[in-house]
Amino acid sequence: MMHFSSSGQGSVPVTSIYADNENLSNAIELIDFDDDPIQFQVCDHCGYPGCASGGWLSPRKLGQLVFLMPAFEKMDMGSWEATEFAPPYFTNLRGSILLSDGSFGEFKKLAPKVPNLEQIALVTSYELCRLLQWEAPFRVLGKYPSSLTFRRELLSTTSLPDDDEAIEILLSFFRSLESGEKTMALTTIEASDERPSFFLDAADFIEWNPIVIKADGRHGVALTKSCCVVES
Ligand SMILES: [Zn+2]
Repeated sequence: MMHFSSSGQGSVPVTSIYADNENLSNAIELIDFDDDPIQFQVCDHCGYPGCASGGWLSPRKLGQLVFLMPAFEKMDMGSWEATEFAPPYFTNLRGSILLSDGSFGEFKKLAPKVPNLEQIALVTSYELCRLLQWEAPFRVLGKYPSSLTFRRELLSTTSLPDDDEAIEILLSFFRSLESGEKTMALTTIEASDERPSFFLDAADFIEWNPIVIKADGRHGVALTKSCCVVES
C-alpha cells in the first residue's frame, strides 16, 4: 500500500516485484510501460513516473531474449541525464535482467501492461557492448560512461598462449560491437566452441569466459550459458 497524501490520491494498493530478494519495482501498477526507458521505481510520495530521479531501464530484445538494461541512449546525453535516467538500485546489486524462454511470459503475467515481444525494440550492437561492459566482473572493461578498455592490472593470465592476443581478440570484438560495423546474430554455444579463459585477480580470483570462438573461426561473446552473439 502506498500513501499519496501530497497528490491527493490517498492510499493506493500496489504490487512490488522482487527478483533474487531485491526490489525491482515498488509499484508495478503505476509503471508507464509505453515509455522507453521505463521507470521501475516510481516516486513514493506521489506515484507519478518521472517525478523521482533514477529507477529507469530499457526493454530490448534479441531473438527470444528480452533484456531490461540501463537506458544507455538517454544516459549518454550528459551527466545530468546519466543521473536522472540511472537504473534502479536493483541493477547495481543484481545486474541487468535477461528474460529467456518462458521467463518473459512469467514476467508478463506479473505485469500485464508490459509490451508484447513484437513491440519491444531490437537491441543495438552499441547497447549490447555497453551492457557487457557494465556487467563485466570488477569493471574490467572500464566503468560506464568511460570508453571501452581492458584493465590489464586485473588480469592474472589467460588460457591462450599469448595474453596480449587474447586481449586483442576480446577488445576487437567489443569495438566492432561498439561501432556497429558488424552485423550480429544470436546463436547457441556448442561444446565444440573454444572458450578462452581470462583469470582475473581482484577482490576474488575468478575465471571469466566472455569470448566464444566458433569452429568456423568466427568470434562471438556469450550472453548466457547457452547462447552467444557472433559476427554474421
Ligand atoms: Zn513525486
